[in-house]
Amino acid sequence: MKQVYLDYAATTPQSPEATKAMRPYFEKHYGNASSLHQFGQRAREAVEASRQNIAKFLNCSMAEVFFTGSATEADNLAILGVIKSSKLHIITTAIEHPAVLEPIKRLEKLGEIEVTYLPVSRDGLVKVEDIEKAIRPNTVLVSIMYANNEIGVVQPIAEIAKIIRNFRNSKIQEIITKQISNSNNQYPIFHTDAVQAVNYLDCDVQKLGVDLLTLSGHKIYGPKGVGALYVKKGAALEPIMFGGHQEQGLRPSTENVAAIAGLGAAIATISNRKSQIANIKKLRDKLLDGILKNIPKTSLNGSADNRLPNNVNISFSGVEGESILMALDQKGVCVSTGSACASGSLQPSHVLMALGLSHQQAHGSIRFSLGKYTTKEEIDYVLKVLPDIIKRLRAISPIK
Ligand code: PLP
Repeated sequence: MKQVYLDYAATTPQSPEATKAMRPYFEKHYGNASSLHQFGQRAREAVEASRQNIAKFLNCSMAEVFFTGSATEADNLAILGVIKSSKLHIITTAIEHPAVLEPIKRLEKLGEIEVTYLPVSRDGLVKVEDIEKAIRPNTVLVSIMYANNEIGVVQPIAEIAKIIRNFRNSKIQEIITKQISNSNNQYPIFHTDAVQAVNYLDCDVQKLGVDLLTLSGHKIYGPKGVGALYVKKGAALEPIMFGGHQEQGLRPSTENVAAIAGLGAAIATISNRKSQIANIKKLRDKLLDGILKNIPKTSLNGSADNRLPNNVNISFSGVEGESILMALDQKGVCVSTGSACASGSLQPSHVLMALGLSHQQAHGSIRFSLGKYTTKEEIDYVLKVLPDIIKRLRAISPIK
């Protein structure tokens, strides 16, 4: 049977470059990167070479790149590491990934913080003016994702950073900053989860104007179980785990050298991607147009313009997304309902609900996410099998 993988937002296949970069650190150079002998030094070299690749990609210094065990961990560090005392305020959005929302909810539940969850428009976009209105003197953190994992909508991160900078320069902020940190650290700190953006968007942190940025290995054709957090020099962040002195003491744990080497190799291959992105976008548009034209009662979720080039999220009226997923799987096509993390849950996607969709529309949605190995033949195949699947499921569906 034909196999068509259209779930690149859930994870990507590991590239040969990443695998090649990792192999020596399993078999030959297995030292602990903190050891002073030759084995340790070989491992250290690999960690620092990877850090250099990431720093180059983000346009920051190597000392500002911290390796973690995943993007989830990097997001948790970005949030929990900023909160040093209670009665503080965080701004985030209703459509963040659970790796951001859950640590925030945890702090909220413990009564440590107040949170503003910014709404989004029907298109999935945050209004920049809403951030201006929501900032308070005790706002210590603003966390807004660069690109959404379910609907691919891209937020205006540089514009938001400008607003935060203006606020930091105001008198009122100087006072609160002194109260919170007794130092010259500036608040609010601005964090973005760029996990889904890294493959497709400019992640130059100077241009974006962010203080913290999260990325993940396995979304960029690198290994699973490794991530990184950019921490701008001077941004006040404290560890959330305690142990050794690795990663300047911010993230103690013996470095996963092979995974870090794989991440570094994966990020190094991203730079030359213009034609690849154009091809993915062409195939994505073909898929989107084909579905909207040939299958009645379908609609695109999220902005058509401010969107990652590889994402299509469609609501199919009168059908359950899970049933579509299973039927497509039987034809060899792998897609997702909402996010991989939300699948298995009976709750409708919090992202689609935040767009204002009904429960039924949210439950009837499918995310197709393309990648660098997607072909025209694969898209043609999906467009051939999908209309019949929807027709058949609608005929037997109790939802009318
Ligand atoms: N943030 C976003 C936007 C994601 O899409 C994901 C993965 O689904 C994560 C964070 C978590 O990444 P990881 O699997 O590396 O923990």
